[in-house]
Amino acid sequence: MCTHNNHRSFDQLLSQLSTRLINSESAETQDCIAEAIAAFGSYVDADRCYVFEFSDTMTSMSNTHEWVRDGLSAHIDDLQGITEEELPYFFNLMKNTFRFIVHDVRTLPEAARNEKLEFEREDICSVVCIGLVANQKLLGFVGCDMVHKRYHWTDDDVRHLSLVADMIANSLERQRTYQQLIDTQRQLKEANSKLQALATRDGLTGIPNRRALDEKLLEEVRRAKRQGTGLAILLIDIDHFKAFNDTYGHLKGDEALKQVATCLDAVMQRSTDFVARYGGEEFAVLISTDSAWQALRKANELLDAIEQLSIEHKNSPTEPYLTVSIGGYFELPQPDAEVASTISRLIDNADQGLYQAKADGRNCIRFR
Ligand code: GH3
Ligand code: MG
Ligand code: MG
Repeated sequence: MCTHNNHRSFDQLLSQLSTRLINSESAETQDCIAEAIAAFGSYVDADRCYVFEFSDTMTSMSNTHEWVRDGLSAHIDDLQGITEEELPYFFNLMKNTFRFIVHDVRTLPEAARNEKLEFEREDICSVVCIGLVANQKLLGFVGCDMVHKRYHWTDDDVRHLSLVADMIANSLERQRTYQQLIDTQRQLKEANSKLQALATRDGLTGIPNRRALDEKLLEEVRRAKRQGTGLAILLIDIDHFKAFNDTYGHLKGDEALKQVATCLDAVMQRSTDFVARYGGEEFAVLISTDSAWQALRKANELLDAIEQLSIEHKNSPTEPYLTVSIGGYFELPQPDAEVASTISRLIDNADQGLYQAKADGRNCIRFR
């Protein structure tokens, strides 16, 4: 059936296809597979040529590519998720020998009755399937049917289909490896961002930690300089917290810290506000604003909100409930200001404000 000439042109076509496959993207790989099975189908004058892939567990298979001679009906949609129970003889032979060569389906043994019925249903008289093997793993197979006519597959046909199978197997394997690489990369990215989130959150209160504050300060000072906007920082320290721990125990102290953190976070709702645990029983708030007055108003809201939590603190010399002292500072960073010195000036001034608030009796705000 195969003249010397179309034999050579088929070899040439295969070699061109494998060259294309070496550098192909996913979509082109699919095209190449489609072309390869079409070429083989025409070469042996077959009626249908196809690729099936096995599931990971090798217990089912699905038709992924199909070429049919003009005038014949396509079967790809009916041939999805076919299980080992449905075609046990075929699965067994393919898994063990990586091939299934039937010159005349009438000669199939009794054990292949399911297969025989299926072939009869599709008017298939002769079939050849060659396993797609990459890295010693059977991924699927490429096959060819003769419909309404018997055909004796030659050694040459089998050798050529094996070449097609090798080519497809290697492309599929490469695609799978590539997909695995993408999946691994995505998982690594997710793990990284989770780690990043953990590294910048305070374990007890769940709000950003000191490290996150340092990063935010850098970012915000640079932005304020660039955009000519102002920046305020508040340092908030719980009053007589040592006495609180001594009175109610460290666990109750932890609870109070969580409540204060949640409260500060709830009051500072704007996306440009930033609340962090600065350390121990101290918190820091960054406010992007053009007016010192607005920052002072926010500080007052915070002071009131903490008072309204009404956390009992019977041994506090200030009030019988938990209070905080707040030191604040506002600045309009100059475009030529040095970032690091601006940051230390912000913190130093807020810290001095806080010291003053403590000295002035606590439960108050001192703004500089
Ligand atoms: P002041 O009004 O001057 O701020 O008095 P203070 O007692 O709050 O200040 P001091 O610095 O003497 O004590 C801070 C206390 O905060 C001591 C420390 O045990 C407590 N503290 C710091 N971190 C934690 C924490 O994570 N959990 C608990 N429960 N207590 C903490
Ligand atoms: Mg303190
Ligand atoms: Mg304190």
